[in-house]
Amino acid sequence: MADHFEAIVVGAGPAGNAAALTMARAGLDVLQLERAEFPGAGSTEGSLLWAPALEKLIFDFRIQAPLERRIVEQRVWRLQPQARISGPEPAYGGRAALPDRYTILRGPFETWFSSTLKTAGVRSVFAAPVAGLIREDDGRVIGVQTGDGGEFFADAVVLAEGVESLVTRHAGLRDDLQPLGVAIRVTELRRLPRLELERRFGVEGDDGIAIEACGELLPGMSCSGFVYTNRESLSVGVGCVVEDIVASNLTPSELLDRFKQHPSVKSLLADSEALDFSARLLPEGGYRVRPRLFGDGWLTCGDAMQPGSPAHRTGATLALTSGRLAGETVVELMRHGRPMTARHLSLYRDKLERSAMLKMLQRHQPGAEQEQRNPAADPGRLAQASRGFVRAGDENGRNLQRLLLRRLVGGSRLRKAVDGLA
Ligand SMILES: Cc1cc2nc3c(=O)[nH]c(=O)nc-3n(C[C@H](O)[C@H](O)[C@H](O)COP(=O)(O)OP(=O)(O)OC[C@H]3O[C@@H](n4cnc5c(N)ncnc54)[C@H](O)[C@@H]3O)c2cc1C
Repeated sequence: MADHFEAIVVGAGPAGNAAALTMARAGLDVLQLERAEFPGAGSTEGSLLWAPALEKLIFDFRIQAPLERRIVEQRVWRLQPQARISGPEPAYGGRAALPDRYTILRGPFETWFSSTLKTAGVRSVFAAPVAGLIREDDGRVIGVQTGDGGEFFADAVVLAEGVESLVTRHAGLRDDLQPLGVAIRVTELRRLPRLELERRFGVEGDDGIAIEACGELLPGMSCSGFVYTNRESLSVGVGCVVEDIVASNLTPSELLDRFKQHPSVKSLLADSEALDFSARLLPEGGYRVRPRLFGDGWLTCGDAMQPGSPAHRTGATLALTSGRLAGETVVELMRHGRPMTARHLSLYRDKLERSAMLKMLQRHQPGAEQEQRNPAADPGRLAQASRGFVRAGDENGRNLQRLLLRRLVGGSRLRKAVDGLA
């Protein structure tokens, strides 16, 4: 394989795929490096996909992509520990105005997405973790080094490595995660026979329902949860700011159990069977904690920008949009023969700022109240913890959850609390 490309993309999540696809379609020679063994490895959770973000990349994705159900109704609940208040009809409308959203299962979806990149000519290499950036003496990024010592060079390096962003952080291009800027999301995939699912949720064909819940699961503990209908399964999940779960003494699976035991949720899940469990960190900082987005020879997009806002379930939308805009920026500069200097790459910031995506993020300014509580969690450990992708509900999984929590906390008081968790 050649060792010089016009662009290198680190990561094969939605952001990296969007960037690589955009650049390859414009004729650029693109290398994509992904540490996972294969597309979608470790992404078993169900998710909501907002059609316009993907449509801008793959206009006929409805025909090609492995979609589960089309969301025709979104229910919004405000949770109280033993009750719920149903909200007004969401902006997307009810059954009359069909919302353009779908449920997907991440594994099959990412496998399909990756296949479209191959068709477009992207050279995607899996099981290829990037260990670091190669830089000139003046700091300009000119390539990447892989874990096995391989070196690849490019005019532009697009960093789409997700919330963990080890490469970006180790290169000193962004700060460690802040506790305020990270939420934990615990999800389960539960099998429910198709006919029973459709009877229970009142849907038929490929129609589906998304339930978004937020409020207090425990007195004083704010969470947001969801139940999404897939073809023959339900995606159930709950999330909260990391410092809250540490303070609550709950393990991630106990948090999920609380949500599943809520009277409003329990009846919907009756007789369903757990297929998979996962717990992951998500950026929750919104626009306010946005790190540097570009520099000489590099850009960052997706969760690596730390833009997320789980309350809006928009991570994949933001990733697809910022990945596409990063790709378009590189293409435009190449076309005009401009070098990938920070000054020229600032076009990326302009594109982001013109996009509806950033306007939405600017409205999301979470955490002011958490900040005042001065979390004791160590930010460095939070970053490590994002490696903890925990699955399985057995004893082994439970130990892993404890490990995840141990990584999350730095203070001895909190460590003691975690060690005391059953
Ligand atoms: C449980 C859960 C449910 C979610 N539900 C929704 C939802 O309903 N709707 C929604 O819009 N969003 C949802 N999100 C958020 C969404 O999944 C993320 O925002 C989105 O995946 C971010 O995409 P990304 O490409 O930036 O990062 P990622 O998807 O994290 O991809 C980053 C990729 O980079 C790879 N990588 C990391 N480091 C390296 C390295 N050093 N070398 C090579 N490769 C590397 C990783 O293996 C990974 O494949 C959910 C997230 C979770 C965890």
